[in-house]
Amino acid sequence: MISAKKSLGQHFLVDRNIARNIVAACEPHPSDIIVEIGPGQGALTGLLAETGARIICIEIDGRAAEVLHGQIAKEGWSNIEVIHEDVLRYDFSALAGDADAPLKIIGNLPYNITSQILFRLIEYRAHIGTAIMMMQKEVADRIISAHGTKEYGILSVLLQVNAAVRKLFKVSPNVFKPKPKVWSAVLRADFTGPHLDAISDYVHFTRTVKAAFGQRRKKLSNSLRNAGMFGEHVPEAAREFLDLRPEQLDIQSFIRLSNTIATHG
Ligand code: SAM
Repeated sequence: MISAKKSLGQHFLVDRNIARNIVAACEPHPSDIIVEIGPGQGALTGLLAETGARIICIEIDGRAAEVLHGQIAKEGWSNIEVIHEDVLRYDFSALAGDADAPLKIIGNLPYNITSQILFRLIEYRAHIGTAIMMMQKEVADRIISAHGTKEYGILSVLLQVNAAVRKLFKVSPNVFKPKPKVWSAVLRADFTGPHLDAISDYVHFTRTVKAAFGQRRKKLSNSLRNAGMFGEHVPEAAREFLDLRPEQLDIQSFIRLSNTIATHG
């Protein structure tokens, strides 16, 4: 066992049943291409290998990549590839030509960069089908939260416009080594783009959401004006939202607001 590096968010899963449940949740099929983010010492990888799917593991830690290479050689797994790279630099579209269906993503994510990984997956949403990801329970709760709650924020809105999300099960700190301080949860995200068709300008939409939640306590009139999203002239159709605070807007309202300012602002 390699010694865990805190800086890489290493908490290795040591419970085989939980590992089985996570792998089963991605419904692996021999024709799938599955990208595993942060395989570490292979808690999920061995189980994935047995499914017959093509598995691409992206691991930043050279020591873990070496352990995996050893395991692959020993077991004779011909369907697994280990790429020693930072997942935040990995080009998910590189596999698009090989795949008949969208990629599946699986991973017990490094908790320190979970949001960045999620934003990266959103960037590559055109190539991704289903993602099964373990993360801090608190982050999963933020992602699935609805408007009107204190958890609702940038991650909730941006994930929910790109994917149908649901929390599958929670996981105790006791099944990891070293043990994290917090509970974890496994989240399923199906990148079907449930709201994308309604958004007239996606880049503008993300700017609107980020500007709105960037100053969470302020009314939208202030935060959007401060972000330079409109000047003195406020588009008529946006007025109904401007006295509200960002957590009061559901996804459809954010879309209407952004579409309106994008057209008239
Ligand atoms: N999958 C293993 C398990 O369940 O035991 C390890 C999970 S551990 C929470 C997160 C893994 O992600 C570690 O192996 C860590 O080295 C790797 N990792 C951290 N940052 C990474 C990055 N930027 N790119 C790729 N892998 C990364």
